[in-house]
Amino acid sequence: VPSVRDYKLCIMGDGSVGKSCLTVQYTHGRFLDYYDPTIEDTYRKQVDVDDVLYNLEILDTAGQEQFAAMRDMYMRHGMGFVLVYSITEKSSIQGLIGLRNNIVKFKDTEDIPMVIVGNKSDLEDRRAVSKEEGQIQAREWKAEFFEASAKEKINVNEIFTRLIQLIREKQDRNNPP
Ligand code: GDP
Ligand code: MG
Repeated sequence: VPSVRDYKLCIMGDGSVGKSCLTVQYTHGRFLDYYDPTIEDTYRKQVDVDDVLYNLEILDTAGQEQFAAMRDMYMRHGMGFVLVYSITEKSSIQGLIGLRNNIVKFKDTEDIPMVIVGNKSDLEDRRAVSKEEGQIQAREWKAEFFEASAKEKINVNEIFTRLIQLIREKQDRNNPP
C-alpha cells in the first residue's frame, strides 16, 4: 500500500493580490473573476509529486480579524508557505516583509519551505515591480521565486509542486530515509 503524506500549506499576502484565484486555479483548474475577498477557507487536493502521493490542505487566508486564531494555528502547523504579491502593486511586495517575520517568529526558525510569487504576470503593461526585485527578495529569504498568472494559468502548478518538494527535502534532511 503506497503511503500518502499529509501536507498543510498556507497562502498569504495582501488583499486582492490573487491568493484565492491561485488556490482555486490549482485545486479546481478554473479562474474565477470574482471571489469574495473576506472568505478564508481550506482547500484539499491529492497530488502525485515525484511518484509520491500527497494529501494537501491549503489554507487560503483573507486577513480578516475573526480568522486570526486559525491563521496563527496555520503559521505554527503549516509546513510550507506561498507568499503572494501582485506585480502591479508596489506596496504588496513590501507587505510580505511583516508576514514573513511573523512566520519566522511562530516557527522559531528561518529554515521554512517558502515560495515567493509575483502574481498577475499577464498584466505586463501595468507592471510596478520588476522581476529582479522579486528575485532579490526571495534570495534574501532563501525562498523559491516565481512570477505567475492565476488568470492565464502560468506557473500555477509549478508553485505548489516546488513547495511540496521543499517540504519533502526538509523532512528528508531532518529524517534521512
Ligand atoms: P485575494 O484577495 O488575494 O484572494 O485576491 P483574489 O484571488 O480574490 O483576486 C483579486 C482580483 O484580482 C480579482 O478581481 C481577480 O480576478 C484578479 N486576479 C487574480 N489573479 C489574477 C491574475 O493572475 N491576473 C489578472 N489579470 N487578474 C487576477
Ligand atoms: Mg481571497
